[in-house]
Amino acid sequence: MAAPNPTLQRPENLTAELVQATFDALLTELKAMPDEPADWEQFFLRWNAFKKVLAGEASRRHYREAQNTQDAVAEEAVRYFREQIQPIAEVVNAKVREILLASRHRPHLEARFGALLFRYFELEQESFAAVNIPLIVEEGEIQADYQKTLGAAQIRVGDQTLTLPRALALTADPDEAVRKEAWLAVGRWVQSKSPELHGYYSELVERRHQRAQNLGEATFIPMGYRGMFRTDYGPAEAAAFREGILRHVVPLAAKIRRMQAEALGAATVKPWNMGYFPGFSLAPDVAPVETQLSNAATLFARLHPTLLGHFQRMVEGKLIDLENRPGKQPGAFCTTFDDEGLVAILCNSTGASKDIGTLIHEMGHAFQAWESGWIEPLELRWPTSDAAEIHSMGMEFLSLPEIEAFFTPEDAAKFRRLKLIDTVVLLPYIATVDAFQHWIYANPENTPEERDDEWCRLWDLFMVGVDWEGFEEFQAVRWKYQAHIFEAPFYYIDYGIAESGAMQLWRKALDDRERTMEIYLKLCRIGGTQSVLEIFRSGEMQSPFDPDVFQPLMAAVATELGL
Ligand SMILES: [Zn+2]
Repeated sequence: MAAPNPTLQRPENLTAELVQATFDALLTELKAMPDEPADWEQFFLRWNAFKKVLAGEASRRHYREAQNTQDAVAEEAVRYFREQIQPIAEVVNAKVREILLASRHRPHLEARFGALLFRYFELEQESFAAVNIPLIVEEGEIQADYQKTLGAAQIRVGDQTLTLPRALALTADPDEAVRKEAWLAVGRWVQSKSPELHGYYSELVERRHQRAQNLGEATFIPMGYRGMFRTDYGPAEAAAFREGILRHVVPLAAKIRRMQAEALGAATVKPWNMGYFPGFSLAPDVAPVETQLSNAATLFARLHPTLLGHFQRMVEGKLIDLENRPGKQPGAFCTTFDDEGLVAILCNSTGASKDIGTLIHEMGHAFQAWESGWIEPLELRWPTSDAAEIHSMGMEFLSLPEIEAFFTPEDAAKFRRLKLIDTVVLLPYIATVDAFQHWIYANPENTPEERDDEWCRLWDLFMVGVDWEGFEEFQAVRWKYQAHIFEAPFYYIDYGIAESGAMQLWRKALDDRERTMEIYLKLCRIGGTQSVLEIFRSGEMQSPFDPDVFQPLMAAVATELGL
C-alpha cells in the first residue's frame, strides 16, 4: 500500500527559470552588500532558506520516486531536478561560498553560524577546482560502466539464472549445498569479468591520482580525506583504528568462527559458510509487517518518551513507508524535507527479522534529524558520515534490551546474539577494505596481480578463521564487487568508526540506561554542528582512534556470547 501524504503531493512549480532568477537576485544583492555584518547575516539566512526549499524539493521528488519507480511523472520530476535545477544551484552556491569565504565579515559569520561550516565551505570549494572537473566527469562515466557490468550479471545457480544480489542472497541459504554452489557461481562470474573490473579500477585510480597531482599533491589520499569532509583526523589515525581492530576484535572474531564451525558440524569455516550462523535464523515471517509499527511504538516508549513522540508524529503524518511492494525502490533510507521541517523514512519490510533492525536503524537517523531541526545552516543538520551512523547504529544497540517488543524471549535472545556476532565479524572486513585502499592510492602504479595479492595478504591478516584451502583462486574475488572501493574512496571505515561509537553507547547503557539515553538525545541535538571527534567527546566516548577503544567492548560482547 502506498503511503499517500498530502505534503508529498504539492504541485511542482519549481522551475529552472524560477531557481535561476532567485539565485541571480541573491547574487546581485551579495555583490552590492552594505558593509554591515548584520546585512551579511541576513543575506546568509535568505540564502540558507532558499537552499532548504531546494533540498526539501529534491528529497520529496526522490522519496516519491522511491515509493514507486514505475511512476513516470515522479521519475521525470527527479530527472528535471537533477539535470535542470541542480547544476544552477551548484554553480551559484560555489560563487556565494567563494564570496563569503573572502568576506571581511567572515569572523562574524563564523561566530554566528559555526567555524566548522566555513571549513566545510573551503573543502567544497576545492572540489570545484576547474582543472579537475573533466576528470571527475570521466570517473562518473567509468563508475556507471562498472555498475552496468555488475547489474548485467547473469549467474547460473541450480536451474535459475540470477542477478548478482540474488545469487549473493543464496550464500546465506540454510542448505550448505546451495550456499556453496551460489558462492562458487559468483566467484566464477567475477573471475570471468576480472580483466574488465581491474580495468575500471585502474582507470579510476589513475584519474584520482592525476587530480591530486594537479593540485600539487603526491598521492590522492589527503584529497580523498578532504572529499569526505574529514577535518580532525588523517591516515595515521585510520591506521591506529585498524590496529585497534587487529589487537582486540580479530581474536574474538576468530573465536566466533570456531563457534560457527562447531555449529556447522565442520572442522573449519569454509568461505561459502561465512554468512551463515546455524541456530540464529528466525522464521522468515517472524515479524508480520502489520504489527511492526505498533511493536516499534512499544519499544520506543520503553526507551524514552521523546523518541516515542517523534515516532508517533511520523506514523500520524504518514512519514513511514514501511511495506515492500512491486515497483518500490529496494533498500531503506531516511530523508528530510527541510523547508517543511519534516523527516521521513522508507523501508522494504516483508515480515523478516532483519526488517526490525532496518526500521530501528532508520528511526535512529530520524531521531537525530528531528532533534537537529533547530540548526540553521543546512550543511550542519547532518554530521559527516562517520558520525551520522552513530545515531542509527547506536539506536540498534540501545534497542537490544527491549527487542522482546517484537519477538518471543527465545527469538529475542537469538536476535541479540546475532547482532553482536554480525558486528564483530564485520569490523575486520572494514579494516581489510580500508587498508587496501590506503595501499592502492599510495602505490597507484601497481599491476592487477599485485592488487589481488595485496588484498589476499590483508584478508589473511584481518579475516582470521576462514579456511580457503582448495579454493585459494577465489580469494581475490570479494573486493571486485565491493562498490565502495570503486565509487567512494575511503568511505568504508566510516561504518567502523560509527560502530565503535554505537557499541560504546550499548556498553554504557548496560550500566545506566537512563543516563545513556540522555547522552544519545544530546548527540541527536548536536547533529552536524561538531566534527566527529568532538561528537565522540560530547558523548563521553573514547576516541575511535584510541587503539584500545575496542578492548572493553569486545570483553562485554564475549561475556554476552559466553566466549
Ligand atoms: Zn544509516
